[in-house]
Amino acid sequence: MNTLASCPECGGKAKWEPPFYVCSVCGLALRRQEYQRLVDKQKEVLYEAQVEQGEGQDKKRKRNRDYLDWYLGKKE
Ligand SMILES: [Zn+2]
Repeated sequence: MNTLASCPECGGKAKWEPPFYVCSVCGLALRRQEYQRLVDKQKEVLYEAQVEQGEGQDKKRKRNRDYLDWYLGKKE
């Protein structure tokens, strides 16, 4: 069983010390359920952030392309 996990608060190493996950960096102690809930929530947030970032990049790319079209169109 893997007893190392990452702390949902600071990302440091958290050790499974029944019945808690104890973070070796910030000292956060969480019961397994609480820990799991926080990690799941963190994953959701991370996923949403990635989606947002992806959309932002698409928009930026599109803007660059529009500008290029406009620029090339003007030159002709
Ligand atoms: Zn921590």
